[in-house]
Amino acid sequence: MKSPPLVPVTEALAKVVNGAKPLPSENVPLNLAANRVLAADVKALRSQPPFDVSAMDGYAARTSDLAANKPLKLVGESAAGHRLKCELQAGEAARIFTGAVVPGGADVVVEQESAKRDGDLVTLPAYEAGKNIRAAGVDFREGDVILKKGLRLSARAVGLAAAMDHATLVCAKRPRVAILSTGDELVAPGAGGPPERIVASNHFSVAALCEQEGAEVVDARVLKDKLDLISEAIEGAKESADVIVTLGGASVGEHDLIRPALDKAGAVIDFHRIALRPGKPTLSGGVGSARVLGLPGNPVSTFVCSVIFLVPLLRKLQGMSEPVQKPLPAILGEDVWENDQRADFIRSVSRYDGEGRRVVTPFLKKSQDSSFTSVLAKADCLLIRAAGAPAAKKGERCEIIPLD
Ligand code: AMP
Ligand code: MG
Repeated sequence: MKSPPLVPVTEALAKVVNGAKPLPSENVPLNLAANRVLAADVKALRSQPPFDVSAMDGYAARTSDLAANKPLKLVGESAAGHRLKCELQAGEAARIFTGAVVPGGADVVVEQESAKRDGDLVTLPAYEAGKNIRAAGVDFREGDVILKKGLRLSARAVGLAAAMDHATLVCAKRPRVAILSTGDELVAPGAGGPPERIVASNHFSVAALCEQEGAEVVDARVLKDKLDLISEAIEGAKESADVIVTLGGASVGEHDLIRPALDKAGAVIDFHRIALRPGKPTLSGGVGSARVLGLPGNPVSTFVCSVIFLVPLLRKLQGMSEPVQKPLPAILGEDVWENDQRADFIRSVSRYDGEGRRVVTPFLKKSQDSSFTSVLAKADCLLIRAAGAPAAKKGERCEIIPLD
């Protein structure tokens, strides 16, 4: 029997992304909000700074008094958190410290290094109005929307949210991911076993990627190639996870039981087998309320397919504004071979040339085996070669997906 044509990568990716709906939101305390995705715009609840404040330790004064170069009378002090209550009158100045409210009447701060102090008197040089003063709201104003829905919160964004007076933020729930590895040959790292054992490494890299993408790994298990065991695990995971990622067993051999187990669990399969190298056996669909990604078990296939499909899926579930990362332009640092009918994501390293262009050098063709984890770890990007792309020369334009 002839197998159906392989699904193009772009079509498969669109199905993965369109098949997922953003998860509901929840209130997240700021100390847990880094790396979470905002589910609503964040408005400043106050202006920053709330008043005109000093940017220096020095003296607050009235510019109209300074031209005369006469001593001014010090009438008090304004420190951060302790403002001077009175207004400055003509001929008066006040000691002031960084962050303190500029007293009424004052329109300039002279830094202490430029002042001549003599007891209760101070002589200041002529400065223009506003010097060394941070005007109220110069950073942001109450009501400003600076952090937008769909943004992944960086450490800097969390600091800004705090400055805007938010104790909690409305964020998308973290997608719960169950990672099910399958293979009779698999053992845990360090566990010993027969010489022909294969160390199960995939769920570590995939779990790390999930965490990095803001997801929560609720289950990561290695299962034997037994239909009942796999079906049972899928039945359990469809209740407790938003995403089920299966690793290995996705092909169509007798020991590849993911598809039969998903069919048994009533999954709707959107595609199975795609025009991609590495990653031909990849499948996707839904089972219960969970999304499913079935990835091949060779470690490079697993990881590359996770970058191509799982990352956008997790981003979409978190309501990120652009779940699919756009490929970046680059320049070929070496000639590349002609491609066949499967899109190829070639493990490569890159550097910037003198003109700021990213120059990409693929590892040799013989190093592109989908089981070579050391090559994958050394790569910093994937060079994208479209299905049917002709051979290309060093110096030609190309596109990449960065890995770091
Ligand atoms: P499969 O996709 O099940 O046909 O597996 C393809 C190859 O990847 C086989 O050589 C497996 O031993 C290997 N493999 C499968 N799962 C894993 C895993 N979790 N970690 C490392 N290698 C694996
Ligand atoms: Mg297997």
